[in-house]
Amino acid sequence: MRTQIVAGNWKMNKNLEETEALLSELSAKLPDTHAEVIVAPTFINLAQSQRSLQSSTIKVAAQNMHFAENGAYTGEISADMLLNIHVDTVILGHSERRSLFGETDDLLAKKVKTALEKEMTIIFCFGEELEDRKSENHFSVVESQLKNALFNLDARAWKSIVLAYEPVWAIGTGETASPEQAQEMHSFIRKTIAEAYNESVAESVSILYGGSVKPANASDIFSKPDVDGGLIGGASLKADDFIAIIKAI
Ligand code: 13P
Repeated sequence: MRTQIVAGNWKMNKNLEETEALLSELSAKLPDTHAEVIVAPTFINLAQSQRSLQSSTIKVAAQNMHFAENGAYTGEISADMLLNIHVDTVILGHSERRSLFGETDDLLAKKVKTALEKEMTIIFCFGEELEDRKSENHFSVVESQLKNALFNLDARAWKSIVLAYEPVWAIGTGETASPEQAQEMHSFIRKTIAEAYNESVAESVSILYGGSVKPANASDIFSKPDVDGGLIGGASLKADDFIAIIKAI
């Protein structure tokens, strides 16, 4: 059985007080679930979030990190800094990092390498833009994103990787991929991994869907056989919505 995951990417939202308030509401209302629940608050609140969730099953992830060990990288955060505050999971390759901050597949490959060397878990995001889907290039775009950043890895590394398919046209737009579109892409991703590696790697990797997941559409999306959970943006900022999405898995 693959691990089912519901992760909240808080992006650049919530100050310290708001972070603590949301975490305590989530902890108090967290339902019994077989799924792993993860939240990714902003860097400045990570250490406090980790402390607040010490006795909770909710895990804390970072939204990004740098590939270098340390040094003259103004404004950046290293893997060791995250591990030092007991954060061992990192989101890499989010489309906002790619489009707004110029992160390329090559850069992401370096970040992935560092995270694996540091024995971290990676939630690796990728997905096509609207133009790619309109021109029916979405499968080849996704395939090349995976190939360029991940397919140089040893098969054993895949136990530390969670994939998050996030079609850019569905992020923060209110427009969601239909459950059928999500399933079609997730099954394509699994087939592509099986071809590059083998069935066992492909069947073991958790593939999350992200893009306008809400309480109203979560259970339909999660019911698809190749969808192993969700990476949630906007709806993870409200405790009741996020809890409803966790209940949907
Ligand atoms: P929304 O759920 O707000 O569309 O964001 C999805 C996302 O980007 C999660 O990483």
